[in-house]
Amino acid sequence: MNWITNYVKPRINSLFSRREVPENLWIKCDQCGTMLFHREFAESLHVCTSCGHHMAISPRERFKALFDGGIFTEVEVPEAVADPLQFRDQKRYPDRMKAAQKKTGEKEAMLVAEGEVGRTPIVAAGQDFRFMGGSMGMYVGNAMIAAAERARALKRPLVLFSAAGGARMQEGILSLMQMPRTTIAVQMLKEAGLPYIVVLTHPTTGGVTASYAMLGDVQIAEPNALICFAGPRVIQQTIGEKLPEGFQRAEYLLDHGMLDRVTPRGQLRDELVTILRILMRQSPRVHGDLPAPAPGAEAGAKPPGRADGAEAPVTGEGAGKEPSEALKKAAARATDKASEKAAKK
Ligand SMILES: [Zn+2]
Repeated sequence: MNWITNYVKPRINSLFSRREVPENLWIKCDQCGTMLFHREFAESLHVCTSCGHHMAISPRERFKALFDGGIFTEVEVPEAVADPLQFRDQKRYPDRMKAAQKKTGEKEAMLVAEGEVGRTPIVAAGQDFRFMGGSMGMYVGNAMIAAAERARALKRPLVLFSAAGGARMQEGILSLMQMPRTTIAVQMLKEAGLPYIVVLTHPTTGGVTASYAMLGDVQIAEPNALICFAGPRVIQQTIGEKLPEGFQRAEYLLDHGMLDRVTPRGQLRDELVTILRILMRQSPRVHGDLPAPAPGAEAGAKPPGRADGAEAPVTGEGAGKEPSEALKKAAARATDKASEKAAKK
């Protein structure tokens, strides 16, 4: 019965319900055809609740779910030269850019942000596959460099969420030049002793796989993500042989030593926090916050979220104010001290 409901029925559904849905209250799973209510879909971070298929999620939505309280600050990326080759295929390159900007509401294919994840300060960069296939042009190169420089200045780890069809052909050789540029950006982090974590999402291909997306200290991928330099179809045509099942998918690459982890999107945040805190030599994260103490509670109590015995100068300047306010300040100061200590080591 399970086999029928979980496998056969979704397949039949996907065969017979190919027509598009007029309104966007419901999202159809690409894999099994199940209709997912938009709120449920957003809550599950664009993962099908029926078959677990991971659908694309924009960097902005991802960051909202990733950072504590959905709060992050965008890091400014230097503008790139617009249309340096006056490129034109069926459409002019500036027109393609305008269309992509309109479709996504973003300026370019990469978003860089800073903020805290599980009280761990990080810099994150996310690639947007909807924006011209997340292709790596000069702007994306600039964004990676801006992210690395920001991480170095703040002594924070950098987390990259990659998704790309490769280099941006409209920028020709200038897009290929982003491969060494971004590699140097990553090197800069390594020299500063800061962790660089890569989360490969579906699909990460071409020049992006051949540069910054494969240089992480820890390589994590989302389930069933296609990660390759040349796609399976190209390889199959070139070598004229049938490829093994699941070839170039995350699980296959994990089995063959190309990845460290394959982590479902729902567990990614916790796993990132754990890995980052280990690499930054910070105390393990505290799950959940204690409720704020009742007004009049004795000062000198430990601030919430500090289990490592770091000193909590609550009795200082904050003592006269509201306890919760003082505790917040003390916690923030203690966190700063801890990260400073970690950075000094
Ligand atoms: Zn599904």
